[in-house]
Amino acid sequence: MRVFNTLTGKKEELVPIEPGVVRMYVCGPTVYDLIHVGNARPAVVFDVFRRYLEYRGFRVVMVQNFTDIDDKIINKANALGVDHKTVADVYIVEYWRDAHSLGIRPANFHPRTTDFVKDIVEAIERLLEKGFAYRTETGVYFDVKKFERYGELSKRKIDEMIAGARVEVDETKRFPLDFSLWKAAKPGEPCWESPWGKGRPGWHIECSVMSTRLLGDSFDIHAGGEDLIFPHHENEKAQSEALTGCVFARYWLHNGMVRFLGDKMSKSTGNIVTVREAVKKYGRDALRYMILSKHYRSPMDFSEELLMDCQKAVKRVWETLRRYEKNADSRIPKRTPLYDEFVERFEEAMDDDFNTPEAVSLLFEVSKLLNKAMEDNDSETARLCYHLIRREFGPVLGLFDLEEERRELAGEELLKLLIEVRNSLRKEKRYDLSDRIREDLRKLGVVLRDTPEGTDYTLE
Ligand SMILES: [Zn+2]
Repeated sequence: MRVFNTLTGKKEELVPIEPGVVRMYVCGPTVYDLIHVGNARPAVVFDVFRRYLEYRGFRVVMVQNFTDIDDKIINKANALGVDHKTVADVYIVEYWRDAHSLGIRPANFHPRTTDFVKDIVEAIERLLEKGFAYRTETGVYFDVKKFERYGELSKRKIDEMIAGARVEVDETKRFPLDFSLWKAAKPGEPCWESPWGKGRPGWHIECSVMSTRLLGDSFDIHAGGEDLIFPHHENEKAQSEALTGCVFARYWLHNGMVRFLGDKMSKSTGNIVTVREAVKKYGRDALRYMILSKHYRSPMDFSEELLMDCQKAVKRVWETLRRYEKNADSRIPKRTPLYDEFVERFEEAMDDDFNTPEAVSLLFEVSKLLNKAMEDNDSETARLCYHLIRREFGPVLGLFDLEEERRELAGEELLKLLIEVRNSLRKEKRYDLSDRIREDLRKLGVVLRDTPEGTDYTLE
């Protein structure tokens, strides 16, 4: 398996430190709002990487943090008149609702920053002892000039980095790129005790501490959005390697940004479609398919039209699967050369830096072949195609899984029940109620048609 490593700028063979086990850290959300389509991308992409690593026989130990203390959380808490913990608790629950609706499997560990303050304080103490950090009246800072390899990950020169955005301005710092490890408390802010007085951890140190505490000083994959390369990941790397003296993460994987009308999609630009809206309107598979049909490192231009097209495409596959399942022969097929060829192509695509667009298009190709095989009454080929979609490719990509189907079927059953109730009402000549059911369903996009054989419906 080859992956593109941001650190070396090339595709490299993935060789984990411990044979057969991949340890992986993904920077998680700052929990102060509902997640949007831009946040869904790393969630889906790294979920699929993990599924594929498992499919390939690796045991994956995955950690994804929740940043539960941050300026944005404090601002939100102040605006709502609640404490920071309430905001974090609420949006962690909301995150799980959305992640579940997107079919994201939970990681092995989901640490919260505020549970690691003691460890963070210890790490900062050691950085101070080793001379990589210094104190000022505003907190404790990492001394960038003491770490020779600073800039190695983002491949930027010092002056470019200074010119780059998001450098903290603070006149107490020795050097503009120095970043805070510990922020001294401002009046009214949530804070924790430390040897340097009350305060809270800086953003970067939390990921360094949580990742190494749970995965070891060196681990295999560190992942996140490419907007995190600088300064977040550069800083994480610098302080971790300064602290432990060994290589922090060996492979750095970064996904491209989601753009909305050409801009990076983020909350600050106001172009938000929440995951909740998107899943409700178009379904989980449409959103996952949209994300996976683009290579994870490329930028993605989001539009609702694109999502609509994706919904149409996944519907066709669902219809094919349903048609097959009416006369289902779900026994495991024999491994024929055709079977092997498809599996080989799938693995070849995914082994090449997780080429999901190729893998997804292969799944659609198999679905077309399934249709054709049903028309031709070629039951062997049909069984093989069905098996490939349902049990091989689908589970790796998190597409066309049974749970989503069950939910849709539950919706169908509910609709049938409503139609029955309406027909009983009509028999009793209670037209006010029966008409209301028809009208309300129409508003939801369900059009009823009464025919001599009974009531039929179409979805608009
Ligand atoms: Zn992080």
